[in-house]
Amino acid sequence: MSLLDVKSFAAGKWITPDANARTIENAVTGAVMARAGNDALDVQAMLDHARDVGGPALRALTFHDRARLLKNLATHLGKHKQALYDLSFASGATQSDHLIDIDGGIGTMMVYASKGRREMPDTNIYLDGDVEQLSRGGTFLGQHIATSLHGVAIHINAFNFPVWGMLEKLAPTLLAGVPAIVKPATATCYVTELAVRLMLDSGILPAGALQLVSGGLGDMLDRLSCQDVISFTGSADTAFKLRSAPHILKNSIRFVAEQDSLNASILGPDAVPGTPEFDLFVKEVQREMTTKAGQKCTAIRRIIAPQAQVDAVIEALRARLDKTVIGDPQAETTRMGALVSNSQKRDVLGKANIIGTEAERVYGDPDNFEVHGADRDNGAFLPPMLYHCASPDTAERVHDTEAFGPVSTIMGYRDLDHAIALANRGQGSLVASVITRDAEVARTVAIGAGAFHGRLYFNNRDSMKESTGHGSPLPHMVHGGPGRAGGGEELGGVRGVMHYMQRTAIQGSPDILTAISSTWVPGAAENPAPAHPFSQHFNDLEIGETIHTDPRTVTLDDIEHFANFTGDTFYAHMDDAAAKRNPFFPGRVAHGYLLLSFAAGLFVEPNEGPVLANTGLDSLRFMKPVQAGDSIKVRLTVKHKTPRNTAYGEVRWHATLTNQDDEMVAQYELLTMVAYAT
Ligand code: NAP
Repeated sequence: MSLLDVKSFAAGKWITPDANARTIENAVTGAVMARAGNDALDVQAMLDHARDVGGPALRALTFHDRARLLKNLATHLGKHKQALYDLSFASGATQSDHLIDIDGGIGTMMVYASKGRREMPDTNIYLDGDVEQLSRGGTFLGQHIATSLHGVAIHINAFNFPVWGMLEKLAPTLLAGVPAIVKPATATCYVTELAVRLMLDSGILPAGALQLVSGGLGDMLDRLSCQDVISFTGSADTAFKLRSAPHILKNSIRFVAEQDSLNASILGPDAVPGTPEFDLFVKEVQREMTTKAGQKCTAIRRIIAPQAQVDAVIEALRARLDKTVIGDPQAETTRMGALVSNSQKRDVLGKANIIGTEAERVYGDPDNFEVHGADRDNGAFLPPMLYHCASPDTAERVHDTEAFGPVSTIMGYRDLDHAIALANRGQGSLVASVITRDAEVARTVAIGAGAFHGRLYFNNRDSMKESTGHGSPLPHMVHGGPGRAGGGEELGGVRGVMHYMQRTAIQGSPDILTAISSTWVPGAAENPAPAHPFSQHFNDLEIGETIHTDPRTVTLDDIEHFANFTGDTFYAHMDDAAAKRNPFFPGRVAHGYLLLSFAAGLFVEPNEGPVLANTGLDSLRFMKPVQAGDSIKVRLTVKHKTPRNTAYGEVRWHATLTNQDDEMVAQYELLTMVAYAT
């Protein structure tokens, strides 16, 4: 059978492997199926193409444009996922593994598409935090902003998730406006190549936004600059080698690392046999040991159970693992497929033997297990293997040896502090889970173990139906961990986009900050509105456009009427003596909500017009009480505009209420949906 040529995509051209290409094995049969790599790849031309063509094209787009691009890409991949499934079986993955890798990757991209539209502005400058008051008079202010790096992101990925591993980095990178060069692990690069080909063929991406290296990177990393980012996923050894290269250190080149991890799962003291939590724990551990044949960076490597429950957990796990059918990944009955290659299988067996020096194997014999519908001897199959470590305090290897396969070690704990100490001996991990319904146990673990783990996953009978699983990194939540896990962070919503942007502290006058941020800053010029702002369409409203209303006097009748009408007869509004005893009030005061209602009455334009709805209020503060006889007036300014769809956009108004002495009474941001002119 002829070999599949896995190509690279460099500077707009597909490059075929050359004579020195590396061969790739079919995980299920052990036969060589493909080859990848070309020593003559022009890595400088790739970097130039990304920096000179892809970067400028992406930076010219706003966050919303880029988010739409992500949505289109994800939709396109979704339409072609069967082709990805079909090819991916050769990596040993089952259909349920594909759901994590392929559907999970597409879903992650969709979440970034949605977050880009909802949480980022329709410009290419992202505001990080609020305006900082740097001067007494308010003429000199500060604002942190983030802008796209002018370089390229090099994504070096692990073999286990050839699609998710690429898309979870590509989505935030493209949203940041930065082009990417993806270098998948050679063992499964044929799946990544197909996904890249699908995205490129769709015509959705600007030229230079995405390139692919199948095989080695050559000396590409020695040609990077401070505007580039390396985002690495793989083993700690490779990460150390790459990140400690003199060129990387000397030029402070960003290096985000996600590496191996000795993740733990703790069975809470309350989760005794017979409780839903005990069953849940066993189910989660079994699933983590067998999904992707245990080749998951987040898999549970250490099972930490109360000493008294260790035997019960082993028995329950044995029963579940017995039901795990190992075999042909394409067969519907198969629950666990093959490891990615025979060399990976040898690596796992070697690591299992190291664990075996400190722990006894209590389940799974690699020399004697059944494989259904596939070649046990030539395919990269292994059974799940459970070890029991009786002396976890003196053991070393069980806490630092990652067998990247279906291997896990159970150990007993004396009390919760002991459980936390054992979990933390992983020296920094991606995730630790705790199966408990005892909220105090959860809090104690969060305090004791939080600093050692990138994610803490608590689950019990109340959350188990909707929970997403110990091993699933979610695009909304950070994925990464301290120490051994690489010290990096990915995902986490907009946080993940920031790895590809530079944060800059901007200092200047309100007008300067307004111009840079496309957001009106108090103190900046107020442009008189040419007509009542509520009568103007979204596209006609200008940032800074302002109206000042007439004043309205608040009477005691107003306060009483409002109190009786709404039922809010709180003593500060009704009882002068009681109000005076309160340190905040000089006597009876108007309700804050009455003031807001009066404000609306002052600034509203009552006729049918482009303002469609009031969708909320942000940052409301009442600053000074208003008493009967005081009068209030409103200043309303267009602060920021965000297009939502082709029919309307969101206008954020800055509203300030002042009294007859021009003292600030209240301040808030009003959100409205405003129609475009047709
Ligand atoms: P690996 O051997 O460290 O390889 C990772 C990547 O680095 C591959 O793309 C590899 O390419 C590349 N690479 C190796 N040497 C390189 C060099 N000198 N220059 C440039 N690139 C180089 O890891 P793996 O075996 O693929 O993956 C398994 C490991 O990844 C496990 O330890 C697992 O825990 C970890 N992992 C971590 C996460 C996470 O999010 N934290 C996720 C998945 C996996 P080649 O394949 O071409 O050598």
